[in-house]
Amino acid sequence: MVNHSEHNFDYAIVGGGLFGAAAARHLGYQGHDVLVFAPEEPQERTTHEGVFASHYDEARITRMLDADEIWSELAKASINRYQQIEIDSGINFHHIAQYLFLTHTEDDSFNSNIDVAKAHNIDFDLLDSSSLTEQMPFLQVAADEKGLLEPSPAGYVNPRAFLRAQLKCALDSGVQIENEIVNEVVETSNGVKIETAEGNQYFASKVLLTTGIHTNHLLNSPLDLYIQGRMVVFAKLSDSLTKSLSKMPSISHHPVNRVDTYLLPPVKYPDGSTYVKIGVHNSERILKSDREIREWFRNGTDEQEKEIAYQSIIELIPSLEGQPIHAETCAYTMTATGHPYIGMLSSRIGVAVGGNGMGAKSSDEIGRLGTAILQGEKIDKRFNPI
Ligand SMILES: Cc1cc2nc3c(=O)[nH]c(=O)nc-3n(C[C@H](O)[C@H](O)[C@H](O)COP(=O)(O)OP(=O)(O)OC[C@H]3O[C@@H](n4cnc5c(N)ncnc54)[C@H](O)[C@@H]3O)c2cc1C
Repeated sequence: MVNHSEHNFDYAIVGGGLFGAAAARHLGYQGHDVLVFAPEEPQERTTHEGVFASHYDEARITRMLDADEIWSELAKASINRYQQIEIDSGINFHHIAQYLFLTHTEDDSFNSNIDVAKAHNIDFDLLDSSSLTEQMPFLQVAADEKGLLEPSPAGYVNPRAFLRAQLKCALDSGVQIENEIVNEVVETSNGVKIETAEGNQYFASKVLLTTGIHTNHLLNSPLDLYIQGRMVVFAKLSDSLTKSLSKMPSISHHPVNRVDTYLLPPVKYPDGSTYVKIGVHNSERILKSDREIREWFRNGTDEQEKEIAYQSIIELIPSLEGQPIHAETCAYTMTATGHPYIGMLSSRIGVAVGGNGMGAKSSDEIGRLGTAILQGEKIDKRFNPI
């Protein structure tokens, strides 16, 4: 147990996930004295006793197209900085693959996507089912479906690599990184005391909580957010399938049967195999406590959802029928507003949380806004935490 009261950091970031690492880089680049608490990804989930996070994967869709202008703006600002972060860190995390929003003709969000794209100068091609089939013969597109195809730099980011890149930049600019779990954050008359699970104490003038799914655990007055337990299903590809799907974009699919899904193109995973990943948006599995969150990450599974994901994937990409599949668990931090909460909760403690299942691509701007509110800047009221 160590009391670090001799050192008062300008800022401490609690939670070195995608939002926190971005905030740490921005503050580090501004020359501040910064400490970030960034527990590492568990090596063995089933026995892990610590915190979990939403970024344990190799691919997250990146796109500017969105039915919601705030999310579109956050993505645009972040994507515009990817290249510089890759150069500064020497770590590649951004993969160009295009993005396809594929939907049935009755879907209102189609027009909202177009309106936002036009208002924000986002490039896209509008494709009917026959042009889609011609350009992407591996997709089985229904006659009443149509698509918006967003060109480069849309595609996907590798969230683990993105995180490493942000933390490397932060470290290089003098940010101190500790992998301890924070148990308590207490505002004092002249700063904030941070106590970790090991019993160590650290001190900072201001603190930003970027603790994702575990945020309410650290707050006396919980924020209006909820945690959704999610599953992703992976179809393993043979070499020939990897080749035939090499032009596959990242996809959001809203079919007429209302089982909305998203798919990632072939991505090589650390086990050496290549997979197409699918996530289904039809479950309302709310995890009500930290214990339930941990249990879901450790042992969660849902055979019915796995089957729905499999049926959805082979309906859209019939060549994947019969491929070996496996599922993994994850969780979203969902806010009541549908936008991230970025704001001060008191004069010294702020938050930047609430990826709502789509925060990875936009994490650099969300982290930057977190640093802005710490420094007293006013930002769009629609980010106000409630
Ligand atoms: C299945 C799935 C698919 C997704 N797909 C996409 C996608 O295609 N595109 C996209 O843009 N986004 C996607 N997302 C969302 C994206 O991954 C999240 O929005 C993003 O990871 C949120 O970042 P964060 O920093 O808020 O949280 P996290 O990445 O979860 O990071 C929070 C960090 O806080 C740390 N922490 C928590 N409690 C403590 C504590 N007490 N002390 C110290 N540290 C603590 C954790 O260790 C963690 O590192 C997806 C998410 C999931 C689960």
